[in-house]
Amino acid sequence: MEKINILGVNVDKVTNAGAVDKVMSMLYEPGNHAVFTPNSEIILMGYKDMEFCGILNSADLLTADGIGVVYASKILKNPLSERVAGYDVACGVIERIAQSGHRLYLFGGKPGVAEQAEQNLKEKYPLLNIVGKRNGYFSPDEVDSIISDINASGADLVFVCLGAPMQEKWIYANKDKLSCHVMMGIGGSLDVFAGNVERAPEAWCKLGLEWLYRLKKEPWRIGRMMALPKFGFTVLFKGKRYKKGEK
Ligand code: UDP
Repeated sequence: MEKINILGVNVDKVTNAGAVDKVMSMLYEPGNHAVFTPNSEIILMGYKDMEFCGILNSADLLTADGIGVVYASKILKNPLSERVAGYDVACGVIERIAQSGHRLYLFGGKPGVAEQAEQNLKEKYPLLNIVGKRNGYFSPDEVDSIISDINASGADLVFVCLGAPMQEKWIYANKDKLSCHVMMGIGGSLDVFAGNVERAPEAWCKLGLEWLYRLKKEPWRIGRMMALPKFGFTVLFKGKRYKKGEK
């Protein structure tokens, strides 16, 4: 798949539909696969931390979750066709696995969130096969038992919703111990499935203003959102230097 190098992070040039197809094909391939969906803040983390940049680039699919990343691709004159948010890919995959019967494990969020997400998803997709769940708050000595629980569940696909950079690091560190086919690092998606966090209405998303809607609903995010202008300036002034390695 063609990629664009944004500040050292190799983002796949893929559409939403293409990303869902790619995840579905991974479910039939041997081995396990990591799917990361970085926004501007996460790409900036990779720019500042070479080790984390390597972890992001180890993904089997890396989509642009955020209008800032799409604008960056335009600045770099290699435009991505659209924003491919982790939540949207997860929704597309859920629709497909509710028919194919693949087994899903929900990992992350505060206690009770995965349970509520399961209940809501099962109401919408009665045939969806959710084989396990657990919250995302744990100590390092619980990691082995989490891995055993995921493996014992027979999950084909795990939604790892621990927030960045924790989820990407967790997936990278434990990939080889997990017997599932796909692990998707998709941030606060379980909160949305659980109904605790509202997604921006379509019209805001179309205008590229989902970040503003989120800020209106969760004003304490202002500190984290300052990453957006920093990301924009960094791409403008340093972005071209990274383009050489593009495939
Ligand atoms: N979270 C978790 N374990 C932690 C820290 C965070 O499971 O140790 C969860 C948190 O409850 C939330 C998600 O990770 O559900 C992060 O959500 P956020 O909206 O910050 O992520 P984003 O989608 O912005 O990356």
